[in-house]
Amino acid sequence: MNSLMWFRQDLRVADNPALVAACEFASSNRGHVRAVYFVTPAQWAQHDVAPIQIDFIQRHVNLLAQALAVLGIHLDVLHAQDFDEVQTLLAAYIAQHDIAAVYAANEPEINERRRDRALIDSGVPLTLIDQDCVLAAGQVKNLAGDMYKVFSPFAKKWKSIAGQRAIVPVAVPAPIAAVLATPNEVVFNCYKMSSEQWPAGEGAAKRILDQFLANQVADYQAERDFPALEGTSRLSPFLAIGVISSRQCVAAILARYPQALVEDTCPAKTWLNELIWREFYRHLLVAFPRLSMNHNFNELGDGIVWRNNLAEFTAWCDGQTGYPIIDAAMRQLNQTGWMHNRLRMVVASFLTKHLLVDWRWGERYFRQKLIDGDLAANNGGWQWSAGTGCDAQPYFRVFNPMTQSSKFDPDASFIKRYVSELSAWSLADIHQPKTINVNDLFAQRQDDRYPQPIVEHKMARLRAIEVLSALKRG
Ligand code: FAD
Repeated sequence: MNSLMWFRQDLRVADNPALVAACEFASSNRGHVRAVYFVTPAQWAQHDVAPIQIDFIQRHVNLLAQALAVLGIHLDVLHAQDFDEVQTLLAAYIAQHDIAAVYAANEPEINERRRDRALIDSGVPLTLIDQDCVLAAGQVKNLAGDMYKVFSPFAKKWKSIAGQRAIVPVAVPAPIAAVLATPNEVVFNCYKMSSEQWPAGEGAAKRILDQFLANQVADYQAERDFPALEGTSRLSPFLAIGVISSRQCVAAILARYPQALVEDTCPAKTWLNELIWREFYRHLLVAFPRLSMNHNFNELGDGIVWRNNLAEFTAWCDGQTGYPIIDAAMRQLNQTGWMHNRLRMVVASFLTKHLLVDWRWGERYFRQKLIDGDLAANNGGWQWSAGTGCDAQPYFRVFNPMTQSSKFDPDASFIKRYVSELSAWSLADIHQPKTINVNDLFAQRQDDRYPQPIVEHKMARLRAIEVLSALKRG
């Protein structure tokens, strides 16, 4: 009896229990293993998957096909428009290849879960395996048996459960048949943008992880907030499409720091915490499906009257707000498909609080641009910034872009990298852009090539606090 491994957001052969299960099924039933990946352009468009992420996926599907060929497994890359067509094509594929069992990794997003449920209900022999988190969604609960709504107790419980388990990545399965010929390169039939500035492959991701743990993790706490430094791992593009698993990351931490889950002084503590944030947002997505449906986590957010000024939104998207730190960050996103975490928080706060644009507009724009686009982390980050989320930044805390600028890019080297118009400006002018008084005939613009601030900070802060007080209970 034959089995099928269906790859989705787990584009790897290492630490892939679903792949191992497919191989074991075929071995014990004297059958073959096949593998399949569906290219779904219309679904990706509906989900706003960025062209740069599609290109990154394409590169990894080709590398995956090569790695599978070495194991004697053929990967078919099938084009479907959307998840509905996937159902039809998968049923036909199963019949054509006499497949008795299908294995895949569980996914936390609602459309993906509905697709899988429909397939199982229609009789497809699909087994879903939890492998996108170290601890599966639903395993980290409070005393009442509910999902935590605050991160710190979630993280504490997460560590105590993880500490009782062996966190060991699953090995690459042994070859199941003779090595196959090198597969032909597959080209996805949809719009893509080059991701070549990023290395690709499981080996590359593992090397980045190892080098980060060997050389940088101890300085992560001190350096992670400074966008001019390479202070973070830059593993997010790989984690988002499953080229590396969070279990591989946590296991690598534990190999180096066996006390990481219990010792508060562990040098990897802060980085481990970020991986736990990733799990927190994924567990939330499963516990609260409305998060996948564009809803505020905090329902009081439904009462916010957003300004949603299109011209201001466009200036934000284009990196033309007149606030150098915001503009440098948005240009980094537009040019590279990635943005530093500190800046994601700063630009999201600016859009939702200074400009009072609905967080959903920003979430969507990020998704359309990010190489690491991930519904759980993106939604979590946006709702955290807007104050509507679970364990969010309080609505009355409004990042001051000028303070953020001087604190986290003191010599403006990051800003100047992306906003070259400002190369001759003084540090004081870069960090404190001036709003021209329109009533002053003698007022001079700082520089004609660069816009003046589109909103005045003090006024915007007070306006945000008033409008967002809709989030106040009682
Ligand atoms: P590191 O600092 O090295 O962290 C290691 C890993 O931990 C990351 O790769 C990521 O998988 C995870 N992680 C780190 N911080 C967070 C966090 N706050 N929430 C969830 N997971 C985290 N991350 C995405 O992967 N995809 C997104 O679409 C995304 N959108 C975001 C939107 C906003 C508004 C904000 C504030 C944050 C968003 N993040 C997102 C989280 C974070 O900014 C990125 O994960 C991080 O910048 C990636 O860089 P890194 O790999 O160097 O991270």
